[in-house]
Amino acid sequence: MAAKEIADGSNSNDAGLNRDPCPICLGTILEESYLDTCFHKFCFKCIKRWIKVVSSKVSKQLSSVKCPLCKTENLSIIHNYDGHSFDRHYINRNITDGFVLTKEQRYRLQCYYTESGFLAAVFDVPRFWKFKRFLQPNWSLEAWLRRELQALMQDEDVNIVLHHLVGVMDSFCKRIEQRHKQEAISAETIQEQFKSVVAEAARPFVMARTDRFVDEVELFLASGLNTEAYDAVYKQRLRLNNTIGINAGNEAREEEGVDNRRSRASPYLFIFEQDSD
Ligand SMILES: [Zn+2]
Ligand SMILES: [Zn+2]
Repeated sequence: MAAKEIADGSNSNDAGLNRDPCPICLGTILEESYLDTCFHKFCFKCIKRWIKVVSSKVSKQLSSVKCPLCKTENLSIIHNYDGHSFDRHYINRNITDGFVLTKEQRYRLQCYYTESGFLAAVFDVPRFWKFKRFLQPNWSLEAWLRRELQALMQDEDVNIVLHHLVGVMDSFCKRIEQRHKQEAISAETIQEQFKSVVAEAARPFVMARTDRFVDEVELFLASGLNTEAYDAVYKQRLRLNNTIGINAGNEAREEEGVDNRRSRASPYLFIFEQDSD
């Protein structure tokens, strides 16, 4: 890659021109950086976050990473290039640690590893689509989404992904509003399209949890609640669900019920196998 080409990249903020956007956030590249083997270009934060998410899916520390564009193995990120010198950030150093989930984020991550569907009777999802309530602004969505992304990506700084997702949802609603003036679109079609648009936008970041994530977004929107109220319902149902499961499956051990209930209220904790508690 020619030095001039690299140097020119720093002018890409001018006049809102976005000739060569970051492949991860699709915005103007900030703190331009390169993978050392394939030389694909990303924002420094974006590629660091990508590596963090990838490495959170494997138990051992990574020493190289596949480029999200071309799948070439790379050993380091090159950044701070000023035409003469550059810094090198090795994949295995200080890149996979540092973020500790809060209690609320852990509870949400647990939810994503718990069977879905037990809230279907509480929130009327079909009604949400039928009466086009998705066209009304939801002031709680951003705060809720931020917490969900932090839990799923195990990263505190999720701004770029958050704004990407909110932007995708906004433009979807505007598009539907426009189209609706010309033709009738069924609630089922809108629901299906919304979910596939959100899934596509979220998949690079929440990966295997994508389908579940989209269901949770839909459920939260249909609830019409803010984060606190939504959590209250969720936790209450989660407890109820576990209690019913215990009583139905094990009436003989009713006296031990209290202890059982406590352990069952934290389902599938094995995703935190490195945790000390
Ligand atoms: Zn970026
Ligand atoms: Zn590449």
